[in-house]
Amino acid sequence: MAHADVSQTQVAVIGAGPGGYAAAFLAADLGLSVTLVTAEPRPGGVCLHRGCIPSKALLHMARLINETREARHFGLAFAEPEIDLERMRNWTQNDVVGRLAGGVEELCRRRKVNLVHARATFVDSETLALHEKGASGGAPRKLRYEHAILATGSSPAIPDVFDIGDARVMDSTDALELPEIPETLLIVGGGYIGLEVGTAYAALGARVTVVELTDGLLPGADRDLVRPVQKRLREQFEAIHLNTRVTHLSATDNGVTAALDGAAGAQAQTFDRVLVAVGRRPNTQDLGLENTHIQLDEKGFVAVTREQRTDDPHVFAIGDVAGEPMLAHKASREAKVAVEVIAGEPASFDNVAIPAIVFTDPEIAWCGLTETEAKARERSVKVARFPWAASGRAVTLGRTDGSTKLIFDPETERLLGVGIVGVGAGELIAEGVLAIEMGAVARDVADSIHPHPTLTETIAESAESFLGVATHLVHAGSKKR
Ligand code: NAD
Repeated sequence: MAHADVSQTQVAVIGAGPGGYAAAFLAADLGLSVTLVTAEPRPGGVCLHRGCIPSKALLHMARLINETREARHFGLAFAEPEIDLERMRNWTQNDVVGRLAGGVEELCRRRKVNLVHARATFVDSETLALHEKGASGGAPRKLRYEHAILATGSSPAIPDVFDIGDARVMDSTDALELPEIPETLLIVGGGYIGLEVGTAYAALGARVTVVELTDGLLPGADRDLVRPVQKRLREQFEAIHLNTRVTHLSATDNGVTAALDGAAGAQAQTFDRVLVAVGRRPNTQDLGLENTHIQLDEKGFVAVTREQRTDDPHVFAIGDVAGEPMLAHKASREAKVAVEVIAGEPASFDNVAIPAIVFTDPEIAWCGLTETEAKARERSVKVARFPWAASGRAVTLGRTDGSTKLIFDPETERLLGVGIVGVGAGELIAEGVLAIEMGAVARDVADSIHPHPTLTETIAESAESFLGVATHLVHAGSKKR
């Protein structure tokens, strides 16, 4: 018989982000009893409260500001925007984040998922201790489970040298709270977060300087996709320093002084605020993992199989804590795999195309094999490109700075990868994901009717270009079909 302070569940999910709540909801849909444990006041995780969602609300405002400024070219002039930070915060936090968190809570109720607000630690492989905030003394309540799904996510990595205990040095969470629009902002790290937050702050009036350690922004992404973004950011930002390291930060009355060490030698510059965006690390600490058989890999992520099993037969792991890429949609897919495996279905994470999107202006999106990876693996590919200058839709938008490329296997003509830079690339990439997962060949993509006039035609015309017959391009080469 269960003791009064020990409850039972079939599936315990630890963490209520887009991985954890997706797992809890599918488990409930499959008829399992589910307890979803979150240490936070509301479900949704970093993605909803401090990541994807608030950043996209800010980036939408940034895009509006930039578009209205640029509309002057079309003969449409607007006054400079009046920025009401209080209302912006209110919109982002209440109308957007609050509303979506309410939606997740409602979905928990309707599915009868037991949502528990507590910090969970493993007592052993089949038991969690639930440490509730403000609980009065005594031992924490225990939860016995048949299977647990660890979905605790990740946190910003702040190297010690940047951790100077000054509120003007921010991580992404602080920056998305929009404490103020500083006159000058230093962003350490030219990755996803640095460029997205930088884009938003620059549109709102900050003079943004980005310092990136490597020789290019967004290391890992294909250079031809990054180039148009870098060009535009050079216009919007005060400065972009590549091959440069921030070696030291110090707080002064006038701001935060940063020591930069790069191609131009060593220099010190003072900024009103600093954003540190040099990567994230998995949340594996203070969970009592040592009380289970869970093992970490060499990078500190929880080691998992393609079925999302950890080394402990009772525990699965998904999302950022279980390895890169640290993307919400990868977590949600892994959630479904883990739950299906628990339910006895023959599931496995066999996706070949995980889309990546950087929500800069223009956006960059890719999926499947990249040219950079193909080169590194010495895999022979044929790349077909379509410049947006030849797209009617791009011309009507005044945004011909985009381009679409499809990466094919030259022998089988099978689509292996898609890369897009341009406005709305983040929406366009979904077609590439489906085409790759369905094993499409060039002719499948080319012969599917794409609506006119839309940017999706750039995908079809890239496939036509591979075949040597793109309507809006003149091909010097021989016909391929
Ligand atoms: P990131 O890995 O994308 O970029 C970090 C950058 O910092 C790299 O370019 C790296 O070379 C640079 N860097 C590292 N140390 C440095 C130093 N000392 N000085 C200067 N530069 C330095 O990491 P992030 O931007 O912090 O984002 C973390 C993760 O969050 C991403 O990898 C991504 O998985 C996720 N994310 C995704 C999205 C999206 O999908 N749109 C948006 C934001 C974050």
